[in-house]
Amino acid sequence: MLLEVENLHSFYGKSHILQGVSLTVNEGEVVTLLGRNGAGKSTTLKSIAGAVTPGQGRVSLAGRDLAGQPAFRIAKAGVCLVPEDRGIFSLLTVEENLRIACRKGSAWSIADIYAIFPRLEERKRNGGGQLSGGEQQMLSIARALLTGPRLLMLDEPVEGLAPVIVDEIVTQIRKVAAAGVSILLVEQNLAVCTALAHRHNIIELGRIAYHASGPD
Ligand code: ATP
Ligand code: MG
Repeated sequence: MLLEVENLHSFYGKSHILQGVSLTVNEGEVVTLLGRNGAGKSTTLKSIAGAVTPGQGRVSLAGRDLAGQPAFRIAKAGVCLVPEDRGIFSLLTVEENLRIACRKGSAWSIADIYAIFPRLEERKRNGGGQLSGGEQQMLSIARALLTGPRLLMLDEPVEGLAPVIVDEIVTQIRKVAAAGVSILLVEQNLAVCTALAHRHNIIELGRIAYHASGPD
């Protein structure tokens, strides 16, 4: 087991948002989190990454306890979240955006990134702010990979993008998964979920309502 989340509770002030979320991601697996708007999907990813401090529950990565740890320590343990807001540096070039994400000891180099995301190599001298929404999404996934995560979390990576770009990004995420990166993603589009994930977890108001094994 790579990631184990057990009975996670999270609050925003007095609002009790996550009421006992449990889920698992095995090594090399892709799991999608489904659920209606406001169900707490983003909060689940943020609580795992330490961007929101869970009030109760267990989060462990490869047996190591992470719940309540500061975000930088969780990141160091190998959990990387690409949030809904992509955080591209618009005044830096694409290649500069990538370079500052490189980490010593990471299994990923910029050349590996360009092999999966050829568009980013074509645009490497363009400013981050000149990229299309789809290209910005590719860049944010690429930057996350350069940090060498054990678990990559993507929050609605293809939301609002044109179908042709969605197909391109779905193919790229599949290549990342094939390279051995475990992925937990939030995705509302069922066709995209099915194209990507080995397993789906449906989150309904913080409660896992359904948990099924997919094609694998
Ligand atoms: P969506 O599909 O719209 O992205 P979601 O499932 O990701 O929704 P969350 O963003 O996790 O949902 O939000 C869960 C609930 O928590 C919502 O009711 C939302 O209004 C509330 N919420 C989210 N962020 C905050 C915040 N920073 N402060 C207070 N309440 C928040
Ligand atoms: Mg969300």
